[in-house]
Amino acid sequence: MNSIDNFNFNSKKALVRVDFNVPLDKETLEITDDKRIRAALPTIQKILSDNGSAIIMSHLGRPKNGSEDKFSLRHVKKRIEELSGARVHFSNDCIGEDAAVLSDKLLPGEILLLENVRFHAEETKGDIPFAKKLADLGDCYVNDAFGTAHRAHSSTCHIAQFFPNAKMCGLLMEKEIQSAKSVMENTKRPFTAIVGGAKVSDKVLIVENLIDKADHIIIGGGMAYTFKKALGGDIGNSLCEDERLATCIEILKRAKEKGVSIHLPEDSVIADDFNNNANTKTTESNQIKEGWMGLDIGCNAAKDFSDVISKSKTILWNGPMGVFEMSSFEKGTKSIAIAVAQATENGAYSLIGGGDSAAAAKKFGVDQVVSHVSTGGGALLEYFEGKTLPGIQAIEA
Ligand code: AMP
Repeated sequence: MNSIDNFNFNSKKALVRVDFNVPLDKETLEITDDKRIRAALPTIQKILSDNGSAIIMSHLGRPKNGSEDKFSLRHVKKRIEELSGARVHFSNDCIGEDAAVLSDKLLPGEILLLENVRFHAEETKGDIPFAKKLADLGDCYVNDAFGTAHRAHSSTCHIAQFFPNAKMCGLLMEKEIQSAKSVMENTKRPFTAIVGGAKVSDKVLIVENLIDKADHIIIGGGMAYTFKKALGGDIGNSLCEDERLATCIEILKRAKEKGVSIHLPEDSVIADDFNNNANTKTTESNQIKEGWMGLDIGCNAAKDFSDVISKSKTILWNGPMGVFEMSSFEKGTKSIAIAVAQATENGAYSLIGGGDSAAAAKKFGVDQVVSHVSTGGGALLEYFEGKTLPGIQAIEA
């Protein structure tokens, strides 16, 4: 993998694919969270401090029919200027006359921000002539968009072929790849994977792949109840995917054959409504009566899970243990966050990934304590499912 550390950007115009898909306030269109911009700054700074210039390509939202103001990257220009301290030009289109003229005039130390690449339908189709038009704007290609590395789009993947000797990963991408490898390839044991969230169907592939790698798999959140039901338990009105019952049995069987311990929550905080003010009590997770639903793991489960986590040397966490957005059902996720943070302080490597788990880590104040909080949702999941990520493969090839 070529790193930008080994490249001198002096007088070069670097095409940098970033993930500036930042949330905007619906009314004012102001950025409500700029962490994705901050995350790409080290790469941009390295290019500028080498006396190069950066041509920034990104998507924003999911525009369906060409350009739409609410998805315009124009809204992030000012923040890039503030954070980088550099002069930022903006091109109303990511290809064509405007972009070409601005690129020609771009001076070392300056940034050219291109309009949303997804305003052209060719981008998501992975159109190669469109990739070539983007490529014509710069001298080299840097991919720093781990969040879209699982997409074979023009600007995330196909563009790389036009820079056979000048394609590389940015510093954020490098950090993401290294941390994923610390979990999957250079694994210190015991390795515990914590998987939670709403649905079994979203996490089947990752759990199946982890059976070949992990020593312990902790399963919490809504998905745990399909497992409980598959084992013959009563789960009342808890989340359940009946069409996945056989999959759960298969997973448990394979894990047993491989000597992997699967941990399911012994008890649950149950509620009579999906509501923060509902009536609640704690009960065995396989004895939930009709009219009640499991919305968090109980104290015994939290203690069991924390014990496993405390003895682990590698930890991967994807998906909350309960409806942590509501204060009545946040305790389980909070105790797991604390256990992961403590294990990290005792020398474990911990990687937290997926939008909701990252939000939980932040909410419970452990995001700065764990080894790495990934910026990738789908991309990270696909990596842990064992898939090849086209965005990474294209710069490696
Ligand atoms: P995911 O995107 O699959 O990781 O799911 C995250 C969502 O699952 C969060 O919004 C949680 O509120 C939700 N969740 C976690 N546990 C439960 C549960 N026991 N019942 C319903 N939703 C849950």
